[in-house]
Amino acid sequence: MSDFASYAVTDTNSRGRRFPETAPQGRSEFQRDRDRIIHSGAFRRLEYKTQVFVNHEGDLFRTRLTHSIEVAQIARSIARRLHLNEDLTEAISLAHDLGHTPFGHAGQDALNSCMQPYGGFEHNLQSVRVVDVLEERYATFDGLNLCFETREGILKHCSLNNARQMGELGERFIKNLRPSLEGQIANLADEIAYNNHDVDDGLRSGIITLEQLSTVPLVAEHLQQVRSAYPELLERRVVHETVRRMINTLVTDLIRQSAANIAAQNLVTLDDVRNAPALIAFSDELNIKQRELKKFLYTHLYRHYRVMRMSAKAQRIIRELFDVFMKDSRLLPTRFQTPQTREEQGRARAVADYIAGMTDRYAIREHKRIFAVEEDAI
Ligand code: MG
Repeated sequence: MSDFASYAVTDTNSRGRRFPETAPQGRSEFQRDRDRIIHSGAFRRLEYKTQVFVNHEGDLFRTRLTHSIEVAQIARSIARRLHLNEDLTEAISLAHDLGHTPFGHAGQDALNSCMQPYGGFEHNLQSVRVVDVLEERYATFDGLNLCFETREGILKHCSLNNARQMGELGERFIKNLRPSLEGQIANLADEIAYNNHDVDDGLRSGIITLEQLSTVPLVAEHLQQVRSAYPELLERRVVHETVRRMINTLVTDLIRQSAANIAAQNLVTLDDVRNAPALIAFSDELNIKQRELKKFLYTHLYRHYRVMRMSAKAQRIIRELFDVFMKDSRLLPTRFQTPQTREEQGRARAVADYIAGMTDRYAIREHKRIFAVEEDAI
């Protein structure tokens, strides 16, 4: 424990839980948070939620679950090297996508557009809602009753308008303060994970090729290294050797640059972290390279017609489910029919919670159960 930097989040300087509980035995507060997240229903559902490729397109593609595990792995490596709280970065990483809708970003965009008259839908806020309200597991409180620093890390961004309704969690957006370094790490570990695994999944799907990727500097330099060291290597090994080198370069750069930023600030306490600018960062050089890779993925993968077709289908499913439940809340499962669902605003939020909690295949099945007329659909 004493291995922590003085500005790391610890059990001692934590702002604690919303509902006071006795201290855990044999594990830290943040290990307890991580354990609660892993045992939640929302966490298990991540297995069947799309990252980029819809779950049934192939067994080897990343899902939200394997994505979250990769984020946690990367975040822990960085936190350990910087003497920060690994368990906290792990908890944040594993929980960061709990509020994601089915069908990835297409699902989020569709639900957000349905929810425009009712305050919108944002997966980041929804992740907080899952851990604060929606999980129904404990006898004496709703949600998972996680520590402040875990919840703060999950809420990566937030509009000023929403921040005003978020109580203590919204404060930092209003006062322009930073989250813990552990939270900053989880945020950038997310970026490292998806940029790299999307290269890997994109290649596996055949939508992008190594040839195309060799125009992207971050990929090209590592690809060249691998090809010249192992000229006879099989393609799939070339891909993995390249991606692992890219991850390593990004992680190493992030650690080096962040350590320099931290040293330049003379940080002593956790409060110093909150008042400093964002200190966990890539070097300018790697920032530019990452941006180029992102641009490539956006144009050639996320906007590819095969991905767009799936997105269009997903958006239609979500829009139709939303509309049908809004028109007649008696079609909602009993658990979602509450006094609030009798009026429009409350009904919209309940419908959004219900849809956001669905896995890809559950949403497809639910859509079929409601709209299909074949006998086997009911
Ligand atoms: Mg993510």
